[in-house]
Parts: sequence; C-alpha cells; structure tokens
Amino acid sequence: MALIVQKFGGTSVGSVERIEQVAAKVKKFRDNGDDIVVVVSAMSGETNRLIDLARQISDQPVPRELDVMVSTGEQVTIALLAMALIKVDVPAVSYTGNQVRIHTDSAHGKARILQIDAQNIRRDLEAGRVVVVAGFQGVDDQGNITTLGRGGSDTTGVALAAALKADECQIYTDVDGVYTTDPRVVAKAQRLDRITFEEMLEMASLGSKVLQIRAVEFAGKYSVPLRVLHSFQEGPGTLITLDEEDSMEQPIISGIAFNRDEAKLTIRGVPDTPGVAFKILGPISSANVEVDMIVQNVAHDNTTDFTFTVHRNDYQNGLQILESTAREIGAREVIGDTDIAKVSIVGVGMRSHAGVASRMFEALAKENINIQMISTSEIKVSVVIEEKYLELAVRALHTAFELDAPAGTAE
Ligand code: ADP
Ligand code: ASP
Ligand code: MG
Repeated sequence: MALIVQKFGGTSVGSVERIEQVAAKVKKFRDNGDDIVVVVSAMSGETNRLIDLARQISDQPVPRELDVMVSTGEQVTIALLAMALIKVDVPAVSYTGNQVRIHTDSAHGKARILQIDAQNIRRDLEAGRVVVVAGFQGVDDQGNITTLGRGGSDTTGVALAAALKADECQIYTDVDGVYTTDPRVVAKAQRLDRITFEEMLEMASLGSKVLQIRAVEFAGKYSVPLRVLHSFQEGPGTLITLDEEDSMEQPIISGIAFNRDEAKLTIRGVPDTPGVAFKILGPISSANVEVDMIVQNVAHDNTTDFTFTVHRNDYQNGLQILESTAREIGAREVIGDTDIAKVSIVGVGMRSHAGVASRMFEALAKENINIQMISTSEIKVSVVIEEKYLELAVRALHTAFELDAPAGTAE
C-alpha cells in the first residue's frame, strides 16, 4: 500500500464531467489499496477570469484582496471533487490551504510555503478518507490568505508529498509527460521517459510551463519522487530523477525551452568608466526589477553600449528608470524592444561535449535568424532573438540536435 499525492491541473478539472472522470480515477487507485491525497487547480480559465474581474476595478489590485479572490477558484473544485467522490462511495473531505494549514510567508501573489501541518490529513487518511486539498494557496502568520504564483498548484502537490513523506507525487495534466519541447509548438517533440531535476529546473525557469519552478525545487530538495502524467490516458509519463544515468548515453540536449515574457533595454553611448554597470543596474534592482541577461559591448571612443533584459511586466518601469540614469551619467540614448524571445537548449550532456553552443548558432544562422544576446551556464545555452522567429528557431534547433520523433510516430 502506497501513499500517493495526485495533482490535477485546470484542464483536467475543467468541467463537471471531467471532475467526475477524475473521481473515477482516484477511486481506482483507492480500490487498489493506496492512500490518496488529491490537489486540484481551479477549473481552466477561472483564475484568469477572476484576475480580469479585479482589473476592472483597478490596474493594480490590492495584493491581499486579489489573493482572497483568486483563491476561490480552487475552493470550488475541491468541493466539487469531494462531492463527486462521495457520489461514487469514496469517503472524501476537502480542505482549503488555510484549513490544512499550509503556512506561507506574506508575499501575496508569490508566497513561499514555509511549513505544513499535516495532522488533519493524516487523521483523515487513517479513517479511510481521500483528502482533497486546494492548490495554489496558503495562509500567512497573520491569517491572511496567500497564493503561490501562477502554476502554484504543482508546488502545493509536491510540498504536501514532502510533508507526508508520500511514495510519489503524480502531476496529472493535459499532456502525457515532459517533452523535448512544448508539443503544442513542435509536432515532432518527443516524450521523455526521464529527466533530471537539474534539467527540469532549467526547463521550468527558462519558460516550459509544464511544472512550476518551485515545485521542481521542492521535489529536488526533499527528494520527492515526481512524475508527470496525462490525466485521462494510460502511460508511464515522465519521471523526474535525481541520478544522472551514464552520461555517455545521455543525449547532449534533453530539451528546448522558450519564453516570450522578456523585454530588452539598451543604454547607448555610456562613458566607459569603472562602476558604470553598477550605476546602470543599481537603480533597476532597487526598484525590485529583476534583470536576466546582460551584455556590455567593447568600448569604442571611450563610450560603450549596455543591454539587459527584464520581465515584460517591468518594461515600462525599467525604461523610465534607465532614462533618468542616462541623463545623470550623460549617456547618449536609451532604446527598448519588447518584440524579443528567449530560446534555450538544456542538457546535462553538455558537460561532456564541446561545441554545443556553436552547433546551436550554426542552426540559427542557417535559418538567417539573428542572435541579439547570448548567455550560457554549465547545462544550458540561451539566446535572445526577434520574437517573430521564435517557432522557426525552436523547430530548427529541435531538428539540429536530433530530437525530432522518427517519421510516423509524431502525434
Ligand atoms: P495544468 O493546467 O495541468 O497545470 P499547464 O498548462 O500548466 O497544465 O501545463 C501543461 C502544458 O505545458 C502543456 O499543455 C504544454 O503545452 C506545456 N508545455 C510547455 N513545455 C512543455 C514540455 N517541454 N513538455 C510538455 N508540456 C509542455
Ligand atoms: N489556478 C492557478 C493558476 O491558474 C494555479 C494552478 O493552476 O496551478 O495559475
Ligand atoms: Mg500548470
């Protein structure tokens, strides 16, 4: 008998029929003798609908109140799923994050889980009940409702699995595992049987939305066996593993991630003196704007150009700050660009292979795609390109690194 935490995402609980299908699935596991804790998201589209409602009142809704509201999406699905389970004779009980208690810090909209009281859940499991927990939410030490950031139900699932020392955390979604890249963008993407935590962490932080970054961090930190599976199709899914198997057998690249969430800011004609990077980025970081990639050009005529990327939501703010810095330090001009995208190749196999980056650049050059910025780490190479070439770039790289599914097997 195993203790399993199962998380079902928004599409998987997107209608009453689907919720009943989820109940039938949970019942099967339980009939097998397993103890089950289910974490659910809001019905698909619901979180967006709630956020839109708030935006009709204000562009920047008060974070505490926004959390009170968006957390209701999950409250609806836990109750519906518990009802559906009881209807098929499975004793079940639902809990909000507050009721469990899932303790978080007070960072509304991006709260971190600090600790989970699992007594209620253990007691219910012992009494033979299936426990249904609302994803994405918690409570701070003042009793305020908090939420964990978009995609946060994944993190609730993994954190509960860690707290309960579950045998496995299963993330059920609308694809049958983690693919070499988003299968909705590249038809020839292939499901991976396994991927390491390290690679999954890079994929998630570089834009693959299949798992929330914090969920992967948590699972790695607490060694939670984690698997991504399709909600309604049988299959082995993808196991996220701790061990790197024999790296000779590893493909060089495991996956390709991309995102359209960034924007580029450039300050030109900056007097090239010591401390200039700090003068430019200091005010940006003081305004809590996170910087991702940074490039400083070689000085020419004692002036230089300095470019960096920020989240698109921070673009306007970043632009204003940079314009005032430019006046202060006597730079020539500030330019910005939101039509960019970042494409990254990820793989632990890179450690033992040289020339991976140049192979990437060659593939992009063949498609005449201009690279604007580059950044590398031990297991990834990222480039910034013009947004309109994003899909072409991802497909070209998928082919160049031999990730395409053999003809006839693509879904
Ligand atoms: P859920 O609502 O179940 O949490 P998400 O939409 O958050 O589902 O995540 C699943 C989606 O992630 C898939 O529909 C797919 O389009 C996208 N995705 C992006 N990159 C990948 C990848 N490498 N492998 C699988 N799915 C991916
Ligand atoms: N409902 C939340 C969202 O849409 C959390 C989740 O689905 O994981 O982001
Ligand atoms: Mg998700």
